[in-house]
Amino acid sequence: MSKHPKLETLRILHYPDPRLRERAAEIRAIDGFLQELAHRMDELMKEAGGVGLAATQVGLGIRFIVMNPTPEPDKVQTYINPVILSREGKVMEEEGCLSLPGLFAKVRRAERVRVRAQLPNGETVEMEADGLAARAWQHEIDHLDGGLFVDRVGPAARIIIRNQLKAFEEDFRQASSHVGTAESDAPPAPASEKTRTRKART
Ligand SMILES: [Zn+2]
Repeated sequence: MSKHPKLETLRILHYPDPRLRERAAEIRAIDGFLQELAHRMDELMKEAGGVGLAATQVGLGIRFIVMNPTPEPDKVQTYINPVILSREGKVMEEEGCLSLPGLFAKVRRAERVRVRAQLPNGETVEMEADGLAARAWQHEIDHLDGGLFVDRVGPAARIIIRNQLKAFEEDFRQASSHVGTAESDAPPAPASEKTRTRKART
C-alpha cells in the first residue's frame, strides 16, 4: 500500500458496501504497519464478538486476516497472503459474518483444510486446520476474493435470509444518503448478538 490509513478510523463495513466485493491484492512488503493493523483489527473483531476479520472488511484491499478460533482472547493469529492448499471432507454448519451482523445461515464448507500464509515476522507457515478454524480460513479467504458467505447458502436458506439482506440494503442506502461515510453511520450489532461469540462470525 502506498499510503497507510489512520487505524482509529477503521470500522467494519457492512453488506452491501461495494468495498466488500473487491479482490484484495497480495502484500509484497511486510512492514510495521501490518503489526499495528493486526492490533486494530483484533480490537474491532473482539468488540464485535467475532472469530475472524479480513482486511477487506475494514476497507483495505490487501490479503491480510486476523482470526482467533480459540476460546482464549489473547490467542489472535495474523496471516499475510493466506492460501488454501487443499480441502477435505464436507460439513454443513451455521455461519455468520461481522459484515452482516445478526444474520446466520447454514453453509457447506470443507471439513479440513491445509493452508499456507506468511506471519508478520516474514516466516512462511503451512498447517492443517479443522473445526471452527477450518471454517474461519475458508470464510476469510472468500472475503479477500470479494466473496461473502451469503453467496454460498443454498436456495432454501436464501429465501429465509432474503428479507434480512433487503434490510441491510435499505440501511446502507439510508446511511449512504447522509453526509459522511456509510460505515460510520451503520448501526452496531444488537447486544444480544455479542454474546454468541463461539459461532463462526467472521
Ligand atoms: Zn465475514
